[in-house]
Amino acid sequence: MDSIVKRISEDVWKLRSNGNIYFINNEKRIIIDTSDRANRHLVKQFLSKVIEFNKVEIVIFTHLHYDHIGNFDLFKNAEFFASEQAIEDFKRDPVNTVLKEDIAEKFKAIKLNPIPKQVHNLEIIHTPGHTKGSICLWYEKEKILFSGDTLFFNKNIGRVDLPTSIPEKMQESMIKLINYNYKILCPGHDY
Ligand SMILES: [Zn+2]
Repeated sequence: MDSIVKRISEDVWKLRSNGNIYFINNEKRIIIDTSDRANRHLVKQFLSKVIEFNKVEIVIFTHLHYDHIGNFDLFKNAEFFASEQAIEDFKRDPVNTVLKEDIAEKFKAIKLNPIPKQVHNLEIIHTPGHTKGSICLWYEKEKILFSGDTLFFNKNIGRVDLPTSIPEKMQESMIKLINYNYKILCPGHDY
């Protein structure tokens, strides 16, 4: 069987699941998204082979749907980041921002920091559409685009019919992404 954790470049590992997790090991140890809590056993079993969870310094969420935040609490020493808009939406309406009540409740326990324009070697690209607060991340060093649920393989785009979606912004966000000539696309799901 193909391992579900793969090194996809010099600095980046991917845990492929319904809700992918990416681990970047460069100046800092950074995780992008934490998958669905239903995949917790996979995350524990496989991702732990490439990182010690307690040594992760930064966790960035592309957005706050349950299948991207579900295992946040495995990273006990990390600082957590999401867009200011996503944080605001979560504060106003946790359940509609997360789309699962029990996860929304658990997620209230963490301190979420508004993400700056740049986090170490990652440039933050605001791409509202799938959710108002969705972000993508650009890793210039390896020409990698982490695209959350905004852009998938084969130019498929994310759903815009969810409670915090903003469909009228999706096209503008797509146009923004055209400027990033990526060599590797790292979407939130492999579909
Ligand atoms: Zn989503």
